[in-house]
Amino acid sequence: MKCLRCDGVELEVKTRGEGTDIVEIDICPQCKGIWLDPEELQKLDDNFFLDIEKIEFGEVRATNEDIELFCPRCETGTMLDKVHPAQFKNLILDTCPSCKGFWLDKGELERVRNVSDQLLIASLLALDEEG
Ligand SMILES: [Zn+2]
Ligand SMILES: [Zn+2]
Repeated sequence: MKCLRCDGVELEVKTRGEGTDIVEIDICPQCKGIWLDPEELQKLDDNFFLDIEKIEFGEVRATNEDIELFCPRCETGTMLDKVHPAQFKNLILDTCPSCKGFWLDKGELERVRNVSDQLLIASLLALDEEG
């Protein structure tokens, strides 16, 4: 998959965990953005975030917050929705209305880490039902 923000940059697949708890994430080596499929989101825990911090990246490029983002997973040019998880008003995430994947910019990942992971994940998964 290509990065949503960086022109022509291929996301790198990183795996973390073991056995049934394995998490596969797609990371942009340039902007540090992360793509998460919904089933991967449910497996996130502290170990995930600790591991992420160990990943070395190149220079971070400034991102334009206003550009429209398209899902890297869906082929039809599906535009991502901006969502605010109920309990975390300051957090804005981009999610695909079709495949329910999530895009986390670098700063967003850090904010996610600063809140209760389980609460956040429950909140994100509940977005679906709120329509
Ligand atoms: Zn990128
Ligand atoms: Zn999608």
